[in-house]
Amino acid sequence: MYNPKSRKAEEFINHEEVLNTLEYAKANRNNIELIDKILAKARLKKGLTHREAAVLLDCEVKEKNAEIYKLARQIKNDYYGNRVVLFAPLYLSNYCVNGCLYCPYHAKNKHIPRRKLTQEEIKNEVIALQDMGHKRLAIEAGEDPVNNPIEYILDSIKTIYSVKHKNGAIRRVNVNIAATSVENYKKLHEVGIGTYVLFQETYNKETYEKLHPTGPKHNYSYHTEAMDRAMEAGIDDVSLGVLFGLELYRYEFAALLMHAEHLEAVFGVGPHAISVPRLRKADDIDPKEFDNGIDDDTFAKIVACIRIAVPYTGMIVSTRESESCRERLLKLGISQMSGGSKTSVGGYFNPMPEDEDSAQFDISDRRPLDEVIKWLMKLGYLPSFCTACYGSGRTGERFMEVCKKQQIHNFCHPNAILTLKEYLDDYATEETRQIGNKLIDKEISTIKDEKISQAVKSYLEKIKTGERNFKF
Ligand code: SAM
Repeated sequence: MYNPKSRKAEEFINHEEVLNTLEYAKANRNNIELIDKILAKARLKKGLTHREAAVLLDCEVKEKNAEIYKLARQIKNDYYGNRVVLFAPLYLSNYCVNGCLYCPYHAKNKHIPRRKLTQEEIKNEVIALQDMGHKRLAIEAGEDPVNNPIEYILDSIKTIYSVKHKNGAIRRVNVNIAATSVENYKKLHEVGIGTYVLFQETYNKETYEKLHPTGPKHNYSYHTEAMDRAMEAGIDDVSLGVLFGLELYRYEFAALLMHAEHLEAVFGVGPHAISVPRLRKADDIDPKEFDNGIDDDTFAKIVACIRIAVPYTGMIVSTRESESCRERLLKLGISQMSGGSKTSVGGYFNPMPEDEDSAQFDISDRRPLDEVIKWLMKLGYLPSFCTACYGSGRTGERFMEVCKKQQIHNFCHPNAILTLKEYLDDYATEETRQIGNKLIDKEISTIKDEKISQAVKSYLEKIKTGERNFKF
């Protein structure tokens, strides 16, 4: 029985409810009256139910689709303005005991080089990342209780926060590790992680079990209920995602929104962010062997409909996607992206050609971070290295409260300016610095609140003299 408040995976991601939703969406994909009603509700910018959003995703009426894209752009702009938050993944270890059929780290892959960074090597990776200009990382590791126990992850996080190199600092460490116990989530919370990230991969239980034939990840309920345990442990920023390409995208879309509704219903706060990874070629993985790949147009529609359905939730795209695809998705709702990424263990400090062999998947956007920053600014975006919400305790419900009132912009915009200035002074190439300084002048002129404007100007002066980490 479908029950968003239930703590049981099969009740809050109820298979029948997903199928009924898909039937409903299909039956109404040309129902202009209903689509107009849903769009009118969506224009209130307070979100949609999974059923309503599924109708928009399925909509076949050309003019209505144009309205959907227009609204997604509008909502993106109203909630996030032109800022884009940047981060990088840091791969700690590719040892893994699971059998995920789409991931080259699966235990049966005997030819991929296995590597686990020592704390000393982590320091070097962090220095390399700081020297690029990064302030926010997402750590990644395979699941292996012997090689990557929770103590290893905790030590690694402490090491990352401890590295102070030149003006650099990693101010927020997000964590993407396998589903674990409340006890372990509490430990992660205690060492001060930002967001806990866990991709569902697929919400369809039968498909999930086939794709994860062996290892602890085989357990669908344990994986699907992970965010509940993380929240119970006090981690109030969690990030959802599915790996598009594994299952029918309509199924994943509806279930993903049901998951968001579930977190909201039980904990009063929805997901902090949603990632939209697509399956990529990797060591012994050929995406063509999976039947459910989606083209760029479908992908764009999914992003637009997620933006409309959960306006207050950040949306993340990685370097799995190409420059042109990322450009398109940014307009429709993406608010965070990785840049200058390496998906191999030890890929940042002194990278060797053979490191590529240990990569998790091929990346499409291989540009250095500075080029990504320059590109974003040329497109009219304001790159941000902001971690202020986390640093000021504006997480979970408190964050959502501000965000839902569309006031987060009052914090994010000035913080984006300040962190961009830090980047420009410490790490940018000359050309990027010039473009950035002009952009900052322009952005300051758009700040309506005189007090904020004055404070930004005074912090910018202090940044010029070497002070760092100002925040609103
Ligand atoms: N091991 C952790 C787990 O089990 O959740 C998470 C870390 S894993 C390094 C991060 C994510 O990479 C996975 O959740 C999966 O969605 C994604 N991934 C795995 N193989 C991929 C591929 N071939 N192409 C794109 N993404 C992939």
